[in-house]
Amino acid sequence: MIQFKNLHKRFGKLVVLDGLDLNIKKGGIFAVLGPNGSGKTTLIKCLLGMVIPQKGDIFYNDKSVLKKWNYRNELNYLPQIANFPPNLSVLELIQMVKNLRPKESNEQELIDLFGLNDSLNKKLGNLSGGTKQKVNLVLTFMFDSNLIILDEPTTGLDPISLIHLKELIQKEKAKGKTILITTHIMSFVNEVADEIVFILDGKIYFKGTIGELKKQTNNNDLEHAIANLI
Ligand code: ATP
Repeated sequence: MIQFKNLHKRFGKLVVLDGLDLNIKKGGIFAVLGPNGSGKTTLIKCLLGMVIPQKGDIFYNDKSVLKKWNYRNELNYLPQIANFPPNLSVLELIQMVKNLRPKESNEQELIDLFGLNDSLNKKLGNLSGGTKQKVNLVLTFMFDSNLIILDEPTTGLDPISLIHLKELIQKEKAKGKTILITTHIMSFVNEVADEIVFILDGKIYFKGTIGELKKQTNNNDLEHAIANLI
């Protein structure tokens, strides 16, 4: 479904992606892991057309994303940092996003799930970090799409909301969707990921199932297995 081929991205002298190759097949949950600053968000932004690599190509369903990027309606993206307009209310923002994408949406189901009914008329600038993340999740999951990209989706979530998030992701997977998640929360990875993609030194250092990672590193604990990997 997605192929990154010989991807190079540097910011000034800082080399972030250094000839990265990666194939992601359709369907399933892929955890994109790696140390802080290893290039996870940069990789995702390249796929989204938000960052332009110096070299290499990215294919989405065999078509080059870099030559013509017109996949916005085929994917849902949860940014790591949501820059919401502070003076809009939650409801106004949801309505605005709905208007931008004239597609069937299920925002009320998600508003109920994350307990946001009492926050709908609050200004976004006045929300707590966790509540903002719930709004971010509503905006991400309210439209149906084949590819869902979640950059640090667990940030600020309380334990109940975390359970709802896991269920949402599993539900999308059951529908055959492809889900890419960057996170540092290993318990979350352990519970949801079908495959781990580990980035180091600008390349894919490991790709495989949690079972394969544990076997390769000879360690049954995921956190220690990751630590042993590097
Ligand atoms: P984290 O786990 O901390 O979220 P990450 O793996 O997602 O990190 P990136 O956000 O992709 O890492 O950043 C990779 C490196 O590129 C970092 O050193 C970052 O400071 C740098 N970087 C990212 N975007 C830019 C930019 N627009 N200009 C300059 N440097 C950048």
